[in-house]
Amino acid sequence: MLQTSKRNAVLEILSKYWGYSDFWPFQEEAITSILDSEDTLTVLPTGGGKSICFQVPALISPGVAVIISPLISLMKDQVDCLKEIGIAAECLNSSLRSQDKVKIMQRLKTGKLKLIYLAPERLNTDWMKSFLKEIKLSFFVVDEAHCISHWGHDFRPNYRQLNLIKDQFPGVAIHAFTATATPQVQKDIIKQLKLNSPHFYKGPIDRPNLTYRMFRRDNNLVKSILKIIEKHPNQAGIIYCLRRKDVDKISKKLNGLGYKNLAYHAGLSPEARKKNQDKFLQEKVSIIVATVAFGMGIDRSNIRYIIHAAMPKSIEHYQQETGRAGRDGLPADCYLFYSGSDYQTWKVISNNSQNQEIMLNKLNTMYNFAGYPSCRHRYLANYFGQDYKKNNCQTCDYCLKEIEMIENPLLLTVKILTCTKETGERFGANQIVEVLKGAFTKNIERWGHDQLSTFSLLKNKNKSFIRNIIEQLLAQGIIGRENKFKTLFITSLGQKALDGNFAPQLAKPIIVEKKTKKVYKNKEDQKWQNFNQKLFEILRQKRSQLAANQGVPAYIIFGDKTLKDMARTKPITQKEFAIVFGVGQAKLVKYGKIFTKIIREYLQ
Ligand code: ADP
Repeated sequence: MLQTSKRNAVLEILSKYWGYSDFWPFQEEAITSILDSEDTLTVLPTGGGKSICFQVPALISPGVAVIISPLISLMKDQVDCLKEIGIAAECLNSSLRSQDKVKIMQRLKTGKLKLIYLAPERLNTDWMKSFLKEIKLSFFVVDEAHCISHWGHDFRPNYRQLNLIKDQFPGVAIHAFTATATPQVQKDIIKQLKLNSPHFYKGPIDRPNLTYRMFRRDNNLVKSILKIIEKHPNQAGIIYCLRRKDVDKISKKLNGLGYKNLAYHAGLSPEARKKNQDKFLQEKVSIIVATVAFGMGIDRSNIRYIIHAAMPKSIEHYQQETGRAGRDGLPADCYLFYSGSDYQTWKVISNNSQNQEIMLNKLNTMYNFAGYPSCRHRYLANYFGQDYKKNNCQTCDYCLKEIEMIENPLLLTVKILTCTKETGERFGANQIVEVLKGAFTKNIERWGHDQLSTFSLLKNKNKSFIRNIIEQLLAQGIIGRENKFKTLFITSLGQKALDGNFAPQLAKPIIVEKKTKKVYKNKEDQKWQNFNQKLFEILRQKRSQLAANQGVPAYIIFGDKTLKDMARTKPITQKEFAIVFGVGQAKLVKYGKIFTKIIREYLQ
């Protein structure tokens, strides 16, 4: 922890530039180690406030901090935010004109910049390495550090070059940051970056303000999406699709029905993509229909819902994509529509790709997660190697009791397992379904399966019901599936169930969505709900206008929390405005008069 005098100095900076009065979990710890020049690895969830952990020490430390970031848009976003609050930061990337690059290098040489953002491939050029050796560096930051690991979900070969930092800049500390890293990826980051006995900080991966719901997709996808959009009028949302053609189809359909939205995928020209992204960030449009190309660097903090129209390819991706909702800490909803066909589509897309085996494993785990009836928050926390303490999260379909459970799951399980056993554990799911349904197919006749005791034992259920239950048993490790021929077999856990010593949890395949009231669980949540809505809308319009004039995303001007705090406390003097949440010195000077004027007019 920081000594009192240092702590006060750091808090003063936090308040002066950012308008925040306290640290969030693990920020103080990370800042302390960075100021002590000791290597760190910090894992905090999206929206957990990672940037401040290195931006604050960069201001205090002598020299310039080098921030490695994978994407130009990400760098630009952070640099825009920093400039807006009066901090000297720049990025060096291929999109700059050469005279601008020269100016930035000059400012670096003369110690006028505190932070410089670079892509890994730029760091690896000879001239950049020798240039950086000539100037005083405070430390290196590797942002999105999971990109360095083969085991991660976003492996970037260029990140491997970062092992050069320790060799070329001995004595300069490295600080790695990521939101999503399994224990295996954490180890790999430390190894690849050659971190020296790093301090390791890991915040709770859980995002308690997100409510997760998962549905098996049927033919009414668009209707289901519409229902969700209607629950979130005028609120920002992202609809993620697997393929470009799905994006175009859904976007067109929604626009046709009057739900204004923009599309985003790699098939659009870079100009069209940028235009659509800017419109979303400047709050000129609330809905984006996109592939995962719409991702990193989307820092709009008031996204209230994420819809996955298909399954993401790993739990890490799911965590990252849903993590874009509710970055302001207010409640947000995540809906996933999945189907076995998504699994097949990803398999085809990933065919021949590097690390296909790792990818298929991750895909399998994601599929099992979606189909496994249990607390979604707990599952996610456990997946990332953390305990989850609450018995009932109150923010997932399972804990909210929106998933209808099968009343006697053991009986149904035993029927399926017996059929698997009777057929000699030599058949795939299709044949087991046909036998239990009592179908007269060629294969049933050929193998004499109509003579089995389990033949037509589930004749009252439809095939997709039986198939779904088999998938749930697979997800829970009660049935196993052999890799090559996809034949089903009974696992040791399955044997326990057959012996009556273990009862699985099974959800009814047709999931009924019940209407639930939004629960604001604590006073802090209520505070952010208790504001003048009309004034908030007026302030929002002003923010949009300012953002458009300056050509920056709306949240760079002010986040929703700041506008809500204004709409709640209604400051009319500069002094009152200075204590609004998220108002630091630079923004007080720049926007104080504009916003207090609007509030005064409104009150009159
Ligand atoms: P991450 O990079 O971990 O996803 P950010 O650094 O973008 O998260 O922070 C998310 C939001 O939270 C930003 O708007 C940031 O300014 C805000 N924030 C960070 N730390 C604090 C804090 N101590 N108090 C209030 N807001 C904070």
